[in-house]
Amino acid sequence: MNASHDLHTHSTASDGTLTPEALVRRAAAAGVTVLALTDHDTTAGVADAVAVAQALGITLVPGAEISVTWGARTVHVVGLHLDISHPVLQAGLAGLMTFRAWRAEEIGRRLAKQGIGQAYEGAKALSNGTLIGRTHFARFLVQQRLALDTAEVFKRFLVSGKPGHVAGQWATLDAAVGWIRAAGGQAVLAHPARYGLTRTRMLTLLGEFREHGGVGLEVVTGSHSRDDAFNFARHAREQRLLASAGSDYHGPEHPWLELGRLPPLPEGCTPIWHDWLEPAVRSHALLAASG
Ligand code: AMP
Ligand code: MN
Ligand code: MN
Ligand code: MN
Repeated sequence: MNASHDLHTHSTASDGTLTPEALVRRAAAAGVTVLALTDHDTTAGVADAVAVAQALGITLVPGAEISVTWGARTVHVVGLHLDISHPVLQAGLAGLMTFRAWRAEEIGRRLAKQGIGQAYEGAKALSNGTLIGRTHFARFLVQQRLALDTAEVFKRFLVSGKPGHVAGQWATLDAAVGWIRAAGGQAVLAHPARYGLTRTRMLTLLGEFREHGGVGLEVVTGSHSRDDAFNFARHAREQRLLASAGSDYHGPEHPWLELGRLPPLPEGCTPIWHDWLEPAVRSHALLAASG
């Protein structure tokens, strides 16, 4: 068990169901000592999470999971240790939020054409009002008994080729990694097994990711099997990428995935946190660096 580090989680600032405060409390209770909040395309929950983590004596790593379009598909890049006040990062995320806002309305219009009314309003009511993602639509349709679970909604309505799918341009890989680096962070390619890439395409993706300055690969994550973890541990070693571990937790409604229950990284990986400083040392170092 590797209960101590969980470097990929969501809150109500994006499509998680726990507030940042409740997420941090639950993680701490589960034995997580270093937690990253990595909401989709926003850092809006980070300040609340940091405050609670400080009170509880655990480390909160400010992060975000950035949506990227790479070769006509969507891939996710997690940024860790972000300076969330950095203007380059925030300008980049603001652009993605603008696209998300339009996309949510467009999904609503497309579902209306399928005879599903009020989906935009329903999804918005399940969100924090600013970030509306496909997950909010999925939860609304399940509430309306139009599907048994969110996985079914995605399959029938929200994935490429289905009536509620809206194609669009997220960040380029280069831009997303650039914003993360500008904000002093480390870029990690999230849940690589989810992309369904051939080995050749995966090597191309990892190569480009590294060229742009990406440093980490999510080896252990909620959607990876043990085989996936071993496979991507090897990729990490061969591509000289650091290995990350994060649950991709979205809330207690998904009881098969709990905080603080991640398996360990396979042998031979270098954990991305290998040279992270203890929080007290880190703030001292930052103070020293700022003179
Ligand atoms: P979005 O960024 O709004 O396009 O939504 C992506 C999010 O939808 C992911 O982070 C997951 O939380 C969720 N998601 C994607 N695919 C599925 C699926 N097949 N079943 C359930 N949830 C999914
Ligand atoms: Mn999500
Ligand atoms: Mn993701
Ligand atoms: Mn995620």
